[in-house]
Amino acid sequence: MNNLPDEGEEIAFVELNADGSPYQVFTAVYRKGRRVGFGSMYDIERSKASGEFLMSDSGGGDAGHLQRPDAKWWARADHPVADVDVYDGHGAVTGRPPDEKNRVGDDHLLSFQGMQGDPFPIKDLADRVRVVDSLVVCGTCDDWLDGDDTNNPCEHTRWCDKCGWWSTPEEPCRHDKKGGRP
Ligand SMILES: [Zn+2]
Ligand SMILES: [Zn+2]
Repeated sequence: MNNLPDEGEEIAFVELNADGSPYQVFTAVYRKGRRVGFGSMYDIERSKASGEFLMSDSGGGDAGHLQRPDAKWWARADHPVADVDVYDGHGAVTGRPPDEKNRVGDDHLLSFQGMQGDPFPIKDLADRVRVVDSLVVCGTCDDWLDGDDTNNPCEHTRWCDKCGWWSTPEEPCRHDKKGGRP
């Protein structure tokens, strides 16, 4: 059991940011230990307020992407790494597989500046994440927030039903005289 929404879903491929934090996560679905399909692409952000790794499903369903060709990456041992699309950093696919010299192993400890809690092996990431529908960024808090069960995930961010989006002091919506405040 992990914290991913679908039965048999496991994290299969992770791209790391230059600071060591996870950038993007790709999942695959397993039945009785065999991969039966790819899952989703998730954005992953750490919330400073709660210390949690929050992920939101951004669609997808393939072997994975590496947005920066020189990024460090992790994959399950059985993952078809050759099918991962490596981008050149300018939006084009290079056609080359991820560089094996940038691969980190199962025991690679996730650790980066500002991370709360003890470092833990990257293979355990699926036990540490929380998947939310609404991953909200606040520029004032400089943080990522869970917007699922609240219209005010922080004191600067307010959900506008008319726009179907978040109003903030930086980008208040046209219905909002309070600049995002509750
Ligand atoms: Zn805020
Ligand atoms: Zn509005």
